[in-house]
Amino acid sequence: MAEPSLVAAGEEPEERAIEAALRPKNLDDFVGQHRVRKQLSLVLKASRMRGRTADHVLFSGPPGLGKTTLAMIVAAEMNAPLRLSSGPAIQHAGDLAAILSSLSEGEVLFLDEIHRMSRPAEEMLYMAMEDFRVDIVVGKGAGATAIPLELPPFTLVGATTRAGLLPGPLRDRFGFTGHLEFYSVPELELVLRRSAGLLDLKVNSAGFTEIAGRSRGTPRIANRLLRRVRDWALVHGIEQIDARAASAALDMYEVDKKGLDRLDRSVLEALITKFGGGPVGLSTLAIAVGEETETVETVAEPFLVREGLLGRTPRGRIAMAPAWTHLGYAIPSGVFAQEQLELFEPDSDAAAAAGEWGPESQ
Ligand code: ADP
Repeated sequence: MAEPSLVAAGEEPEERAIEAALRPKNLDDFVGQHRVRKQLSLVLKASRMRGRTADHVLFSGPPGLGKTTLAMIVAAEMNAPLRLSSGPAIQHAGDLAAILSSLSEGEVLFLDEIHRMSRPAEEMLYMAMEDFRVDIVVGKGAGATAIPLELPPFTLVGATTRAGLLPGPLRDRFGFTGHLEFYSVPELELVLRRSAGLLDLKVNSAGFTEIAGRSRGTPRIANRLLRRVRDWALVHGIEQIDARAASAALDMYEVDKKGLDRLDRSVLEALITKFGGGPVGLSTLAIAVGEETETVETVAEPFLVREGLLGRTPRGRIAMAPAWTHLGYAIPSGVFAQEQLELFEPDSDAAAAAGEWGPESQ
């Protein structure tokens, strides 16, 4: 099995600590996402003016775009304490009841990956969100009784990478939903400028542009690449990072100009050289690159599809025309262009290409 890739690296404790240090603490420091920021700012301001707990808020979008950061900002702007948990951590209704019953008035409860909560917990959450009340079931079978428990008003902030998987009744109970979009290169440059300031790093404009261009529209990746460039510059005795230094550093880490890493490129390379551009089944493709099917599907594919380099068709995966060019191959006749692919792509695949992200996407 290949080493973990840089752009999809796991979250080690050190990484989490640095990430926490780089997180914007208020809406003014939060770069980009203008529409969500403006709307959220209004929702929070109105709640403060009414002296009420803020409405429940849902953030959706791919990993690393700022959902957790926004949840923390909601708590900070409301001057409220924050409790962090996640869908996968809540497998029983009792787990949720324990959290809810210990909340203080006005507290912000952040539930990451909320679509992965168990069904009974989800149903308990409906009532808690709407009426600030839960029924605790005591006993089993015919003798079971429900004891109602009043909760203090709280704000639920949910985050999901798969908004489509959220049941309607849950989605409807959020007073505000913000969908986060991928960031533009100029926005990522701003993120990087801010981070470089906090890390006390000297980077010129061209250096920021070079790193931003390889960051896949994602602040988390931008910050991660910045730290790797910092290491490279330190070892090479470079004080000011320019485009050449950033480029040399990221080439060394095998993150190319488009932000593709080794795994992405080996998937495309295999498609082109071993299967004539496809179509080929996902599992065959995964074997060809020596990776788990899930890794190829969830780590490499979403980005490759989004960039128009790989297509999912009913007969398997295909390398799109730009993939051939990007890897330096001449495009043979008969290779699909994106427009042609969309003509026969089933809806579910189109949805997958447009909006299914994250390590858990199947
Ligand atoms: P998510 O919860 O969506 O996976 P996070 O909120 O954990 O993403 O963000 C990942 C990292 O990216 C954070 O450490 C933060 O520093 C940075 N980040 C995300 N969004 C922004 C933004 N809009 N401006 C500045 N930094 C951001």
